[in-house]
Amino acid sequence: MSGSAVFHRDFGADYPLIVSAQGSYLYAEDGTEYLDGSSGAVAANLGHGVTEIADAMREQALRVGFAHTLRFETAALHDAAARIQSLAPEGFTRVFFASGGSEANESAFKLARQYHLSRGESSRHLVVGMWDNYHGNTLGALAVGGDASRRQHYAPMLPRTLRLPSWRDSADAMAPVAALEKLVRSEGAENISALILEPLVGSQLGAFEPEHEALRKIAKICRTHGIVLIADEVMTGFGRCGTNFAVERSGIVPDLITFGKGVTGGYAPLSGVIVSDPIVQAVRDSGGVFHHGYTYSGHPVAVAAAAAALRFYAERDVLENVALRGAELRSGLESLAARYPSAITDVRGAGLLLALELSPALTARGGANALNRAAMARGLVLYPGASTRADSRGNATVVPHLLVAPPLTATPAEIAEL
Ligand code: PLP
Repeated sequence: MSGSAVFHRDFGADYPLIVSAQGSYLYAEDGTEYLDGSSGAVAANLGHGVTEIADAMREQALRVGFAHTLRFETAALHDAAARIQSLAPEGFTRVFFASGGSEANESAFKLARQYHLSRGESSRHLVVGMWDNYHGNTLGALAVGGDASRRQHYAPMLPRTLRLPSWRDSADAMAPVAALEKLVRSEGAENISALILEPLVGSQLGAFEPEHEALRKIAKICRTHGIVLIADEVMTGFGRCGTNFAVERSGIVPDLITFGKGVTGGYAPLSGVIVSDPIVQAVRDSGGVFHHGYTYSGHPVAVAAAAAALRFYAERDVLENVALRGAELRSGLESLAARYPSAITDVRGAGLLLALELSPALTARGGANALNRAAMARGLVLYPGASTRADSRGNATVVPHLLVAPPLTATPAEIAEL
């Protein structure tokens, strides 16, 4: 069992002590072998024990372990930024670095505001989010995000933000589009700075992809009204859904893309914002200083891990593996759903970000968390979640789901076992 000085997230939980990990498996001190069916929190995207990444980190730590990016650059910083920029859609020219996904989104909110200030639009400050999208646990990201249970304890501390209804609140897939039009009218476009969304909603709705047409309409409204569109690709970026970024699926072109998790394959905490050229130019032309940054922005060891991870993605044809293994996994999950139709109500997602939606009847028996505990007792780790849906009479139903998202390097045998 883990050390007693740790302030655990859940003091009532059992935390097996992991002593080694390889490929898609984690090994505990007591001999239990866990199949990592969710890549941790959808972060360990290249599996465990990748020597190329570990070697690059060691080498970097010995060469330059820390150099503050307020004063210095490193070759690894250039290498990581160039690789990330080359994977982004056309027109994205610079990469700002942070450490976690929440920090990346906070940075994007500030960058959007600074962009407007640099253009003399100083009244633009509001950020629009959506119910059932998740952007992180820091106060700004939590305020914009739409996870009611994560927000509830901190509600009085959260700054004012605006939120569109959840994609699942209405049978009409276009309802959030109409809500955005209404918001722009009621708040005034001149007060709205940015809109953030997950192009494929990960943890909150369980790998739910909005209709592409709805995403395109939202993007168009943002463009028309000068609202900076932020695509949160913290979970979906770097091949998780079968394309480098999930925005490629609908063809929407955001102004900022935030990333995290998979950029280092989980080997180091690194995140950031990929910035489109008009925003880069506006900031450059108005004094050239982004009034924001972190001690660990562009940490040499973290960016060296990213450069090595991104080389690995490219050289090992990881995207091709996502397509092949994703199809195998989906078909396996569909067979499972066919076998347990009263428990599994939907199989969805893209690439290797898949989910089983579960019957609300399971909520009374502990929902997805109970199922995940049962899976862990049998050596399988998944990623449980739930969302709340209201019917037309306002009755709320909790709908549990399990994310199934193994490493993008999983082998056919690992997928079959999963
Ligand atoms: N955005 C999305 C879409 C996420 O899935 C997450 C984490 O799960 C975050 C932001 C927050 O990232 P972090 O936990 O690294 O701060």
